[in-house]
Amino acid sequence: MDHDTGRKLRHKRAMQRKKAHIDKRIAAADVDKGLLVLLTGDGKGKSSSAFGMLARSVGHGLRCGVVQFIKGQWECGEQMLFNDHPLVEFHVMNTGFTWETQDREKDIEAAVATWAHAVDLLRDPAVKVIVLDELTYMLTYGYLDPTEVLDALRERPADQHVIITGRNANQALVEIADTVSEVKDIKHAFNSGVRVQKGIDY
Ligand code: ATP
Ligand code: MG
Repeated sequence: MDHDTGRKLRHKRAMQRKKAHIDKRIAAADVDKGLLVLLTGDGKGKSSSAFGMLARSVGHGLRCGVVQFIKGQWECGEQMLFNDHPLVEFHVMNTGFTWETQDREKDIEAAVATWAHAVDLLRDPAVKVIVLDELTYMLTYGYLDPTEVLDALRERPADQHVIITGRNANQALVEIADTVSEVKDIKHAFNSGVRVQKGIDY
């Protein structure tokens, strides 16, 4: 057998073993449930990943909800796309970043009013996927009662998926989540002086 044929054969055997292993793991995962997905960390990609899952869900015809707890300076493409979509109920907190309002009382009032929309969605069994974008900050800043938030998440319909984003997720959220990813900042163009780019950043 020449070198090339031997290499192809070894590759085929390795792939057969890999396939057997993966097929076994796929067969073993036989549970369906509403997942709590937590996307945290200081790198870019948390909200855009959450909206990627929203796009997938809408593509499958699932009823979805979005609650954005921090309103950015720029109107996000995802809001323009999904705001009037018949399958998506979209709520955005009516204040800007907390370092822009600089008013704790006003921030708390807005957080509590915005959370009420999240609670309505979390109680609605017809809503299959909910994005709670930047929710972690509401807990870190102490704007929302953590017990209330955790209870509402725990008591939601069993088949409802929830995706939470934001830096510095607290330990209690990590514990109740099914899937947790930490996006790590390796580098970000903003730190080299590149301003926010339409489509990529908002
Ligand atoms: P994205 O919405 O792009 O997925 P994100 O949700 O992971 O970002 P946030 O902390 O919510 O990140 O920040 C939102 C905005 O800040 C986006 O415009 C994003 O490009 C930018 N950003 C995210 N991470 C960093 C970083 N490490 N340094 C500078 N800017 C960042
Ligand atoms: Mg974000």
